[in-house]
Amino acid sequence: MAALWPPATLPGLHVDMGQWNTKAARWARFPTADYRCGRCGDIESASGDAVAAFVSTIHRIHRAACPSRA
Ligand SMILES: [Zn+2]
Repeated sequence: MAALWPPATLPGLHVDMGQWNTKAARWARFPTADYRCGRCGDIESASGDAVAAFVSTIHRIHRAACPSRA
């Protein structure tokens, strides 16, 4: 496995839109998303069909459950 690109270790939402192979009509690489919290450092992830909902809700969901919230 390749090493993470340095910005991928920064807090925030990182989305890989994947790669659709039009000739084979299937994913060559599935979409993925990682959220790294800037307060507690937790990482939450989603892939495939779950990415769209994950991207639109993870900030709110993690904020409510973040162990470092005051
Ligand atoms: Zn957190």
